[in-house]
Amino acid sequence: MTQPSFTTHEVLNQSPPFEDVDLFALDRPLLDAVASNGGAAAEKELSEFGKHWGSAAMAERGRLANENTPKLRMFDSKGNRRDQVEFHPAYHELMARSAHAGLHNSTWTADGRPAGGAAEVVRAAKFYMAAGVETGHLCPITMTRASVTALSVQPDLLAKAMPVIATRAYDPTFAPWPTKRGMTLGMGMTEKQGGTDVRTNTTRAERDGETYRITGHKWFMSAPMCDAFLVLAQADAGLTCFLMPRFAPDGSVNAIQFQRLKEKLGNRSNASSEVEFKGAYGERVGDEGKGIRTIIQMVQLTRQDCAIASTGLMRSGLAQALHHARHRSVFQKHLADQPLMQMVLSDMALHVEASIALVMRLCRAFDRAPHDQSEAAYMRLLTPAIKYWVCKSAPGFLYEAMECLGGNGYVEEGILARHYRESPVNAIWEGSGNVMCLDVLRALSREVDAAAGVLQNLAAETQGLPGASDAVTFIGTAFRRPDSERVARLAVERLALLAAAAALNQVSPRHAELFGATRLAGNHASMYGAVDLPRDDVRALLERALP
Ligand SMILES: Cc1cc2nc3c(=O)[nH]c(=O)nc-3n(C[C@H](O)[C@H](O)[C@H](O)COP(=O)(O)OP(=O)(O)OC[C@H]3O[C@@H](n4cnc5c(N)ncnc54)[C@H](O)[C@@H]3O)c2cc1C
Repeated sequence: MTQPSFTTHEVLNQSPPFEDVDLFALDRPLLDAVASNGGAAAEKELSEFGKHWGSAAMAERGRLANENTPKLRMFDSKGNRRDQVEFHPAYHELMARSAHAGLHNSTWTADGRPAGGAAEVVRAAKFYMAAGVETGHLCPITMTRASVTALSVQPDLLAKAMPVIATRAYDPTFAPWPTKRGMTLGMGMTEKQGGTDVRTNTTRAERDGETYRITGHKWFMSAPMCDAFLVLAQADAGLTCFLMPRFAPDGSVNAIQFQRLKEKLGNRSNASSEVEFKGAYGERVGDEGKGIRTIIQMVQLTRQDCAIASTGLMRSGLAQALHHARHRSVFQKHLADQPLMQMVLSDMALHVEASIALVMRLCRAFDRAPHDQSEAAYMRLLTPAIKYWVCKSAPGFLYEAMECLGGNGYVEEGILARHYRESPVNAIWEGSGNVMCLDVLRALSREVDAAAGVLQNLAAETQGLPGASDAVTFIGTAFRRPDSERVARLAVERLALLAAAAALNQVSPRHAELFGATRLAGNHASMYGAVDLPRDDVRALLERALP
């Protein structure tokens, strides 16, 4: 399209939008990681998804959903309570497209069992691409998908909910979920006095025949227009998990009263509420007193999604940076041909390549865990370590990606400012950094032999890579120390790096070697690009990242 020119100048030397592209086909590290973890047969499906989500129309929906943030309508004009949240149509479109692609359910069979095959890997590839376009709406998508594992401890409830969860329809109408074409689920654990330490929950559940009446509050409860929430409350026998629908079985609106929506740094398309329950109707999920055990299974899956989404955000940042650098000239040369910029971009490409190899390896473990004990041990030990390392690396990475675009990166019209503001939340929610490190320690102490087996496998898979054997020794020693909690961040980061090197070795051995040399053997200063990568490797990394 020809643009009208300005009277004083023409718009020159700016990059065209990175839109109307196939997000899958342009991402060699993704293609290879999917294939090496069992998902090769889904290439066509993933390419279709990549073209759809890489379109200018989807990018526009992402922008609109974030600029037109959700609004809480507490009352109607006559003073009656409404407790509804209104979203921009672009948000509903994003939700519908994600649901249509099965992001909220494709890892389950129609009756709520793990789908098997490479279902986790294939869904993760889609989730990663969608996260690079718009991340906020993925919050209810991920919670819905994860809720199935919590509901599975209460088979009668699962059997009722699954036919509605298992459809690929998104139905935003405010109506009782059993009457709907599709449903979403959220979760409420965090209270004012404690988020990590949910044992301090003060919300109370009192028996009312076979069901319960729940009274109390939640300080963060995201995606408040979900059809039902998995909520923790204190019952007679202790902290218990409940399913709390928006409507009671008699069709009345349940006593869930939203106080306000959070004003957040990022994650703006998604609503996060403060809420009070005034004798709200709830059905028990699992035994009384077993609430943490029930909900923790769900949290394992949302943690996995945090790592996938953070990798998707970084990938999008890298693609934007590289695309811009290939179009923008400085001192008669494209930025992408300036030796120092090449170092920055290729070093970032190596980080993303390792991250995608690692999260796809983790998803393979989720796929195989039901039938393979060593994969189940990998999943339990490494989910918190991977969430820790990947999610915490995203804000720094996106800051660097933003800088590659200079001033253009910093303004709100582009996607990078939004990605940057979005990126810290994946490290904070679903278990913050220290909590993830403590979780790794807990997994190590509970399953000594299984964890030792995981470490042995990682040692074998990284044999000969620079820095790997020292890392293995360090991790083993640090975790055995009586004061291991003090060095947990040090050891967990090393563990994640080792696992990343192992995963990358399956996909691209040369890049695993570079990763080992720069991340494990320590030939790297603290900033991206502060490293000496061979010229041929720089070229190969950038070509793989964006042909
Ligand atoms: C945008 C957003 C949406 C959210 N949506 C939801 C939702 O839908 N449902 C929900 O239930 N919650 C939600 N949360 C809450 C979130 O899960 C919690 O904020 C998070 O779990 C941390 O809990 P907290 O805020 O109480 O912090 P705290 O538990 O007080 O932790 C503060 C810090 O202390 C660290 N820490 C904790 N324990 C230890 C320890 N033993 N040793 C060392 N350090 C420790 C933590 O790592 C953290 O850095 C949301 C949060 C945000 C930001």
